[in-house]
Amino acid sequence: YGDYNQKIDYVFKIVLIGDSAVGKSQLLARFARNEFSVESKATIGVEFQTKTLVIDHKTVKAQIWDTAGQERYRAVTSAYYRGAVGAMLVYDMTKRQSFDHMTRWLEELRGHADKNIVIMLVGNKSDLGSLRAVPTEDAQEFAQRESLFFMETSALEATNVEPAFLTVLTEIYRIIS
Ligand code: GDP
Ligand code: MG
Repeated sequence: YGDYNQKIDYVFKIVLIGDSAVGKSQLLARFARNEFSVESKATIGVEFQTKTLVIDHKTVKAQIWDTAGQERYRAVTSAYYRGAVGAMLVYDMTKRQSFDHMTRWLEELRGHADKNIVIMLVGNKSDLGSLRAVPTEDAQEFAQRESLFFMETSALEATNVEPAFLTVLTEIYRIIS
């Protein structure tokens, strides 16, 4: 596996947040294991997955936390956010409501997390383009207003998933180094 005795220079905790069924768990499965399962069950048990990568000759372990089916507003506990240096704020681009809820997820995130947290707004399911309910410009405008990074992804087709996580990790690295 090649991972033994590897010296880890940094561990970055990243949290996934957003409404239920927007694709958070599948984005994580795609990034951490390059997997996607059509019949994804509601997340139970597993708290986080890790992926180790090299940024600027340093070994960075990304520890990515997924909500254990606690996606109702205010149900995510403060322990979930504690120590997070990055966040993926995920909506489903075919579900307008999941985008409209970004405001309160962001409010909740900012209420709990470090003020320097790096945040990526993620519009997932770009493979379902014909069902799009959120124009790219609306999301861009929101991201700009709130100083967030923004990308549209497809966990299914593996589009932009790695770039989305890498952008966040690289920015965190830039801030702390
Ligand atoms: P979570 O509740 O936010 O963790 O959402 P899941 O990752 O469990 O995904 C919810 C549903 O959306 C599942 O049926 C997934 O197969 C599906 N899904 C997730 N990502 C994508 C995607 O990029 N494209 C499409 N078409 N479906 C997706
Ligand atoms: Mg899930």
